[in-house]
Amino acid sequence: VVPSGGRTGLAGGAVAKDHEVVLSLVRMRRMHAIDVLGRTVVVEAGAVTQAVHEHVAEAGLVWPVDFASKGSSTVGGNIATNAGGVRVIRYGHTRQWVLGLVVVLATGEVLRLNGALEKNNTGIDLRQAFIGSEGVLGVVTEATLRLTRPAPKPTVLLFSVDGLAGVLQLFRNVRDKDFTLGAFEFFTDRCLARVMRHRRVADPLRGASHYVLVELESAAEEPVVAWFEELLEGGLVTDGTMAQTSDQARALWTLREGISESLSATGLPHKNDIALPIAELEPFCAELETVFTERYPHFEICLFGHIGDGNLHVNVMKPDALDKDAFFATTHDLDRHLFELVRAHDGSVSAEHGIGLLKKGWLEYTRSATEIELMRALKKVFDPNGILNPGKIFDL
Ligand code: ZN
Repeated sequence: VVPSGGRTGLAGGAVAKDHEVVLSLVRMRRMHAIDVLGRTVVVEAGAVTQAVHEHVAEAGLVWPVDFASKGSSTVGGNIATNAGGVRVIRYGHTRQWVLGLVVVLATGEVLRLNGALEKNNTGIDLRQAFIGSEGVLGVVTEATLRLTRPAPKPTVLLFSVDGLAGVLQLFRNVRDKDFTLGAFEFFTDRCLARVMRHRRVADPLRGASHYVLVELESAAEEPVVAWFEELLEGGLVTDGTMAQTSDQARALWTLREGISESLSATGLPHKNDIALPIAELEPFCAELETVFTERYPHFEICLFGHIGDGNLHVNVMKPDALDKDAFFATTHDLDRHLFELVRAHDGSVSAEHGIGLLKKGWLEYTRSATEIELMRALKKVFDPNGILNPGKIFDL
């Protein structure tokens, strides 16, 4: 049985490759009344992320799990993958925004975990085992979500900087200010070129190799303008623009949020989603560049991601001259070089996309043999016959 939500996953976590029964939860999309005092809402697993956002907005609240595929991803899928996205730097992963779960086990038993409790120290928190375990332990059918107030009046800025070193210098600079950082995203000129081609938009800045999108929450205008000028005058950035209206802010966000879609629309990307300790980012990227230029000089690499979380999306584009099979035969070796570097820098082979089928062979690059053995043992406790999402994350 393969549980299935909005089918926006990127690791093959909801693929039924051995003729399993696909259990779609998309029609279980009921959303209950909002508990305004407790700031919670109970929704069924098939509720679409954006529908939840709109539902809770009626009470002036937000569920701050936010990413480009929110228009089709579902709450159940977000929970199964512990979805991340562009707000993790401010709000954390999905895990932080789920209070309670209703889970159906492989035996048919129903578990009601934690309800709407903020505090509940009564032994092992089983709820957390289901969040991020990609449907291999049970099927989430309902969740009690934690809500919060929206950030008033965000300020969105876009900068161009010199290389990844420039990105990290800017990150250090803004974190030392008294602003609340709502997002700190980066992308390279190659990503931008594809967005410009696909979305028919213009580069708002003078050409550069690296771009940073910064969102500041509820910052007063005066100190932001002073900071902006200080950056330009001090040479920490090569160019910059600050959105004056919400339309301009949305336009800047489009440059970042349109990347994934634009890469697929203008070519065939091989995707990776890795994380590094922030302190390791710079040496890691320098070594990565050496590997790519020495071994794969004919590949176009599109780098972008949630750099403030140490999360990079590494996209390798198929060269037009190479056929698909030959390309994907090469990417396996490329992945090995990439993941050897990730391991050497104590990183993760999957920051926010999960393991599913696609990254299964690389799990041991981030998790120890003992950890994987314990995960298998846990699977056997919850699902002794191995009927739920078989072959995902690990083989039994
Ligand atoms: Zn992402």
